[in-house]
Amino acid sequence: RFDVVIVGAGHGGAQVAVMLRTQKFEGSIAIIGDEPELPYERPPLSKEYFAGEKEFERIQLRPAKYWDEREVTMLLGKRVVSVDPAAHVVTTDGGETIGYGKLVWATGGAPRMLPIPGGDLPGVQGVRTRADADAMKAASETAGQIVVIGGGYIGLEAAAVLTKAGKKVVLLEALDRVLARVAGEELSRFYEKEHRDHGVDLRLGVSVAAIEGETRVTGVRLADGEVIPADLVIVGIGIVPAVEPLVAAGAEGGNGVLVDGLCKTSLPDIYAIGDCAAHENHFAEGACIRLESVQNANDQANVVAKGIVGDEAPYHAIPWFWSNQYDLKLQTAGLSTGHDQAVLRGDPATRSFSIVYLKAGKVIAIDCVNATKDYVQGRMIVTAGLVATAEQLADAGTPLKELLP
Ligand code: FAD
Repeated sequence: RFDVVIVGAGHGGAQVAVMLRTQKFEGSIAIIGDEPELPYERPPLSKEYFAGEKEFERIQLRPAKYWDEREVTMLLGKRVVSVDPAAHVVTTDGGETIGYGKLVWATGGAPRMLPIPGGDLPGVQGVRTRADADAMKAASETAGQIVVIGGGYIGLEAAAVLTKAGKKVVLLEALDRVLARVAGEELSRFYEKEHRDHGVDLRLGVSVAAIEGETRVTGVRLADGEVIPADLVIVGIGIVPAVEPLVAAGAEGGNGVLVDGLCKTSLPDIYAIGDCAAHENHFAEGACIRLESVQNANDQANVVAKGIVGDEAPYHAIPWFWSNQYDLKLQTAGLSTGHDQAVLRGDPATRSFSIVYLKAGKVIAIDCVNATKDYVQGRMIVTAGLVATAEQLADAGTPLKELLP
């Protein structure tokens, strides 16, 4: 039995243990993770790690020594398959039972695969783990043409690294623009042009009917019958939160586990954080959402660790995110969903600009491309819920913070 058992050795899980020890928590801590590796950063998998610019050791969140010194027991290569909330026990796929005082569920999610014929053929690859990135890299080395399905951040980053590596890439997006779920149209159009300028064959509004191939993928069949040849298909169409054991144990939820402001689930002594935690978010006007970002995993981890040591304070952090494609650094703060106005600052043609999103006259989010100063100050105006006019916000000569009262 451990005082705290954390399920999931990813961003959120690791941060709970780090924060507990920082808060001088002296109880026993175990992290159970189904991947063989110590916790590592996931974002570089589609960026510097894939590109070969960073070795695996450099993307580990902490060296092995750190966990040993702080007496955090790592139980790796084990998957939790059931939870008994009454007995305070979890069971792993190897049949091992582990007791807990508090349980933190930090399991992220698995890539959503295509529910179409051939969707599980060898050579059809999601990107979530180091193993996925290694498989993608190995397959891409001999691939003639690669098809990426999904124009979200993961699909676009994969297209960018593969194109930079000299590969021929076709990117298929079902909607009429990329990043439709997370950004305004101006940003979508900018990224579409960038990808096309770099040689990506980007196709919008296309629906995929099947993956072709006998023993391995050979192509992607579109709904109109066209078959696009492919030696590798990368699927980036979102994740399915890994919450089955917890929901089976009676936790409220479905698409993620429902948590309150302190990240507590409906089950006693069980918290959930990160990509798998559905919570009412202040920056989404209280809507119940899951956020898939390192920021959210870390900040919710801190809420839980502090709660466990008796310093309860609800989650209230401003959402932020980044994405690197080619030489473009996108940084976003706030949530633009539901905006009724998007104001451009600067000229996209210079490849350094920002877009400020407003709802009912109030700033709710900002997307910044190669514009770190706007991002830093943008966080301030989003946090403050600044009310400003489009003219004021569009004036790139005036620093955003000067608009604060
Ligand atoms: P994870 O970090 O996914 O950790 C969950 C761990 O739990 C995994 O190791 C999983 O295998 C394990 N697990 C699942 N079920 C079980 C079980 N039953 N038993 C044991 N272990 C289990 N975010 C950004 O903010 N910026 C970025 O640029 C960015 N880029 C990304 C690029 C890629 C390729 C990917 C995949 C993600 C990216 N993200 C980015 C998202 C970010 O990595 C996630 O939001 C973050 O990792 C969430 O942390 P988490 O702790 O919730 O889950």
